[in-house]
Amino acid sequence: MATVEATPGTDIRVITEPEIYLLGRQTVEAAELDRFLADHGVSWESDSEIAAEVLSETAGRVCYMSFAKPRPGGNSAYLHHIKEVGHGSVLEHAVWNFLFTGVSRSLTHELVRHRSGFGYSQLSQRYVDESVAEYVEPAVIAADPDLHALWLEAVRHAHDSYVRLADRLNAKLAGAMAGADRTSRRKAARQAARSVLPNATETKIFVTANARALRHFLESRGAAGAEPEIRVLAGKLLDVLVKESPSLFSDYVRVPLPDGTFELTTPFRKV
Ligand SMILES: Cc1cc2nc3c(=O)[nH]c(=O)nc-3n(C[C@H](O)[C@H](O)[C@H](O)COP(=O)(O)OP(=O)(O)OC[C@H]3O[C@@H](n4cnc5c(N)ncnc54)[C@H](O)[C@@H]3O)c2cc1C
Repeated sequence: MATVEATPGTDIRVITEPEIYLLGRQTVEAAELDRFLADHGVSWESDSEIAAEVLSETAGRVCYMSFAKPRPGGNSAYLHHIKEVGHGSVLEHAVWNFLFTGVSRSLTHELVRHRSGFGYSQLSQRYVDESVAEYVEPAVIAADPDLHALWLEAVRHAHDSYVRLADRLNAKLAGAMAGADRTSRRKAARQAARSVLPNATETKIFVTANARALRHFLESRGAAGAEPEIRVLAGKLLDVLVKESPSLFSDYVRVPLPDGTFELTTPFRKV
């Protein structure tokens, strides 16, 4: 669970850690795979029981119809070789669905820059009332009581301004948009009021991505130069992905950084 602490005296909640929910993974239609193999006079079975790995291996083997006499080492060796030679398109066939929560709008602004192989659905600040919003505090600020107090004051001020603006806009638009339905009026009020919300505002984003795109994300956002919040997310995502598919993701190593955090590196960059 993400760390969430209530702030005494206000309804502002402060979040210091992202949460990842793995909502979907692939399955293999074994009968259809067998039918394809039989139609082509071969029999083959991957030694992996993980659908993402079986599907990636199958995709790679289709390229050369190399089902009949596979090299030793099984799925792990096969996908290792794919990464080694940079046959990255094969990894696009492994796909997962995630929900990220407890992340800031600044994080998701960086996340959605990853276009290729990613799909997104993000919480709408136009439709959803942010008067119960939570805020993500950067670790470097949370660790210092003076900076924390300054940050909280700024967030509280922005939050209060949002609530007051939304209320007054609602009242004003009740006249100006008298013919419109309640949802449209609220949307019009919230979309204007949200302009004062900070980058720290918590958001939720549903993310679908393939293994090749995820690897590029892990490399660029797990690197020492990446912004710390997204680097933490990359580290947590790697933990999930290594469990999901050791063959596709266990080549990453965590290298300690002077500030006590770590960066992610791999010998197989940008496959
Ligand atoms: C440490 C760090 C600092 C950053 N700072 C800034 C910044 O100051 N300002 C800023 O605007 N962005 C910044 N970025 C974002 C960065 O420029 C990329 O937009 C982001 O990392 C996504 O990478 P990408 O475009 O490779 O990913 P994707 O869009 O997922 O693309 C993946 C790969 O597909 C290929 N590709 C995708 N689209 C095209 C295309 N149209 N034409 C040709 N090839 C394509 C490329 O090989 C690309 O690397 C930063 C990123 C990092 C990691």
